[in-house]
Amino acid sequence: MDWFEQLKEANAMHALFDEQRDWSYATFGPPSFKGPLGPLDHLAKEVKEAAAAAALLRSRIANATGTATDRVNIARAELDLHEELADCLILMFDAAHRAGLTFADLADAAAHKLATNKARTWPAWQGTDPDKAIEHLRAGDEQ
Ligand SMILES: [Mg+2]
Repeated sequence: MDWFEQLKEANAMHALFDEQRDWSYATFGPPSFKGPLGPLDHLAKEVKEAAAAAALLRSRIANATGTATDRVNIARAELDLHEELADCLILMFDAAHRAGLTFADLADAAAHKLATNKARTWPAWQGTDPDKAIEHLRAGDEQ
């Protein structure tokens, strides 16, 4: 992706952040009334919905026999997963601006955390459970 495409996507995401913030404050109250805890509570529920949608999609793909009904059901499961992931992103944004972060603050914090993660030591992924979180190794961990 060239720099212009990246810039367009960054601008679209920034516009989404601002639009969601304005709608959320008008609909659910300003940060002086509602901080990040409410959206984080909702995010925990949406994460479970996203995980269920991902599991359903995987199951439908694994059990498909090539029928038209299978293809429709897989397409529906893909759309459901996309919608649940979008719910998670929107609530993440809601929690961020209600915690006082601008879009630029959130992008900076994420970039900083990615750099921190890259500097950490991680176990070989081949020996891990693909459905579970992988924790970085800490001092004293056996490798
Ligand atoms: Mg949902």
